[in-house]
Amino acid sequence: MPRGTDLLHDPSLNKGTAFTEDERNAFGLQGLLPSRVCDQSEQVTRVLENYRKKRTDLDKYINLIALQGRNETLFYRVVIDNIEEMMPIIYTPIVGRACQEYGHIFRRSRGLFLSRKHRGEIADVLRNWPKQGIRIIVVTDGERILGLGDLGANGMGIPVGKLSLYTACAGINPNQALPITLDIGTDNDALRDDPLYIGDHAKRIRGEEYDDFVDEFVQAVQEVFPDALIQFEDFATRNAIQLLKTYRDRARCFNDDIQGTAAVTLAGLYSTSRLTGMELGAQQILFFGAGSAATGIADLLVGAMVGEGLPESEARNRCWFVDSKGLVVTSRIDLAEHKLPYAHEHEPHTDLLSVVRSLKPTALIGVSGQGGAFTRPVLREMAVHNPQPIIFALSNPTANAEATAEEVYRETEGRAIFASGSPFDPVTLGGKTLVPGQGNNAYIFPGVGLGVVASGAKRVTDEMFFAAARSLAADVSQDSLSQGCLYPPLSKIREVSLHIAVVVAQVAYDSGLATRPKPQDLLEDIRSGMYEPEYRSYV
Ligand code: NAD
Repeated sequence: MPRGTDLLHDPSLNKGTAFTEDERNAFGLQGLLPSRVCDQSEQVTRVLENYRKKRTDLDKYINLIALQGRNETLFYRVVIDNIEEMMPIIYTPIVGRACQEYGHIFRRSRGLFLSRKHRGEIADVLRNWPKQGIRIIVVTDGERILGLGDLGANGMGIPVGKLSLYTACAGINPNQALPITLDIGTDNDALRDDPLYIGDHAKRIRGEEYDDFVDEFVQAVQEVFPDALIQFEDFATRNAIQLLKTYRDRARCFNDDIQGTAAVTLAGLYSTSRLTGMELGAQQILFFGAGSAATGIADLLVGAMVGEGLPESEARNRCWFVDSKGLVVTSRIDLAEHKLPYAHEHEPHTDLLSVVRSLKPTALIGVSGQGGAFTRPVLREMAVHNPQPIIFALSNPTANAEATAEEVYRETEGRAIFASGSPFDPVTLGGKTLVPGQGNNAYIFPGVGLGVVASGAKRVTDEMFFAAARSLAADVSQDSLSQGCLYPPLSKIREVSLHIAVVVAQVAYDSGLATRPKPQDLLEDIRSGMYEPEYRSYV
């Protein structure tokens, strides 16, 4: 146990003004703190007062991250108790802004940066991490941060933010979480020209050199932190898809942009079924964008439709894609491999409106990163042939959303069932208040991670994501649905994550992937292990 200023500078042990007289005497803290002992609730009041005085959201982000670096327990108390207010700050959309500014707002290092100079010794660098028993690693190479492109090492804000959500939303102990950035260069010229950029100023490593680097990383994790789950995060499409393919059967890992997004979208579609009475397999789904998120969603949807009894070829025929060159059809010769299973026989179209007119989709899902792409005519067209058009604008951050909640409700006379990636405020139309659901991956990945950790699952499977999606949809109340909201309120996120963890762990036990003995009461066992940000006595 550290003493004196060392104790005050250890964020996982520090209690600040809440150290009791006995603790102050025992650990050489007398005189190092103001004399009045505060309790946690008084500290929370002070934090909130300061936080709410901040004029910009970026200042709020800096304020919260600084608190996390000083007193982790207090940080989580504040975040958990104010999750609806603070999630948009510590995660999308404001974390995107923070990543863009990371080198300029940088104060204190968080997480591990692995760079090309560490090749051949990545395991040793992992051992520099001061904590043992790591159970969850979120790793990015910073090449596709949210919808903001290549932010290089500045992308560290994402693993840091996601792991904060693991703790806040699913009670993963922060001491068992490790954010990592593979700082292997950036092709973003503006960053490389920025003298305050914190990463390697060289161009990205590519090809075999890149594959070898990631391979050394995965093997090093398996050696140094054998119990850890690796969450791949915000890799560029080709690497995201390839890494998942390479490692899903060799390591305890998943890709949140592909599988987490897919599960949260599937859950949203399950909720729409409760509103429209239309089965998943009866939908005609048009994806705007055909990257890793879009095809990841479609792959999981196809699996779910097959589970409902639809033949796979028919299920694939329910999913159509538009990419930057137009409708994905068999006659195109420029299609990347991941789009081929979804290239259908159809005349070519280059613009979304004519595709919507021609295909008459029941659901339009935006995962293109193209803000405003769902124009007024597109939205109106969706409303012409659907009594309740399903319109999801999932691109992040807010400026990249294909449409705002207000635009969608207004252009569809309030009939649309809408969800978005970044949060939107409720909209009042014709006297009725409509509450847009946020298809936030935070509804899925923390619970999945908790279930994997609790069961010690060796692998993360699609069955786990199906189970997670069903569990999430089942947690949406009739009240929420009647306001058009497809997801439970964030205030219930810990319960939601717990339920997901239970079903995910159950899949692990049923499929022989679990490595931990099964407790008698899975729910109680997992619940009792969830981290609560309460001060414990040190004397
Ligand atoms: P990506 O780069 O792999 O894919 C983008 C796709 O959009 C590509 O297929 C590209 O061809 C297409 N596209 C680009 N411009 C277009 C245009 N003008 N018209 C039609 N298509 C166009 O990225 P990704 O990982 O698939 O992510 C896409 C978006 O989805 C991002 O904005 C990301 O923030 C968002 N996303 C949201 C969630 C969520 O909210 N739950 C989760 C993951 C990703």
